[in-house]
Amino acid sequence: MTPSDKIAAALARGQRFLLLTHQDPDADGVGSVLALGRSLCDAGKETTLLFQAPLGPPLCFLKGAERAVTQLDDRKIFDAAVILDCAEKNRLGRAADYLYKELPLINIDHHETNDHFGTLNLVDPKSSSTAELVFGVIRAADLPMGPEAAENLFAAIQGDTGSFRYGNTTAKTFRVAAELVDLGALPWDISRRIRDNHSMARLRLLGLALETVCLRLQGRVAVMTLTREMMEEAGAHETDTEEFVDYPRFIRGVEMGVLIRETGQNTTKVSIRSNNWVNAARLAARFGGGGHARAAGFTCRGAAGTALTLFLKEARRFLDGTRD
Ligand code: 5GP
Ligand code: MN
Repeated sequence: MTPSDKIAAALARGQRFLLLTHQDPDADGVGSVLALGRSLCDAGKETTLLFQAPLGPPLCFLKGAERAVTQLDDRKIFDAAVILDCAEKNRLGRAADYLYKELPLINIDHHETNDHFGTLNLVDPKSSSTAELVFGVIRAADLPMGPEAAENLFAAIQGDTGSFRYGNTTAKTFRVAAELVDLGALPWDISRRIRDNHSMARLRLLGLALETVCLRLQGRVAVMTLTREMMEEAGAHETDTEEFVDYPRFIRGVEMGVLIRETGQNTTKVSIRSNNWVNAARLAARFGGGGHARAAGFTCRGAAGTALTLFLKEARRFLDGTRD
């Protein structure tokens, strides 16, 4: 039996499921949870969708998002927890507190740094998104897939492929997307609601952020910086920085685009995107983070300047080929 078949059998057999994704979730994590939750529910099963924190715009506009909770009754028992798009258990944040010892874990993910923490694991780094894997599992388990599940899977795939542009987009991705459209997903409607639906604060923040972009390491790295003061000045929220890191990456000749963002008094989040060959996941792993070959990140202590100095030192080794 393939991992997908084993998971399909467990989903068909069980009755009560807890569904989770990583903290600070993206469209792939949230869309996968909502889609699988909807399919299991339509099959007559009891589902609990748990996020660490309430969803803000735009992900709260995904259909079914209002059903999710941020807390659980500690005594609640499940047949399994399905953990989606999450490379390690500690990326669940506080939601991991609800995973009691005997609870079987079903791990469905596409991060190459996934550590196979589950009782059952479906981990495929070649998959564009976790949602593409969830599509296969729903089909293998013969669960219903209505327009709401289709829309959420479509939004998830669109998010992780940069609207079907990134190198992770395969012929299969398009085939799955075409099936989702057949099932009722509306690409233009989803795009306007989830992707092209920005606050004025986001645009103000982008203006400030673009001013900071500079080239380093002989033009091979482009860096964008967001300080806490800039976030405050723009009145922006963390989710308003989604995809900002693409702007430095877009510069001709640049191999790596980097966004350095202060997230707290003494913590900084670093997002890395590479264009051609640097393995961003391995570079992020040097700092305790992870991700994919072309998109990865990590969090470190210190303000933006400190984080950048440490990062550039290691990035130079990767670019010079003295570390990989
Ligand atoms: P982003 O830069 O958009 O936050 O994340 C890009 C990719 O890197 C995502 O797939 C995300 O899951 C992964 N990633 C970002 N930050 C971390 C981190 O701190 N730890 C791990 N393991 N992965 C991360
Ligand atoms: Mn993903």
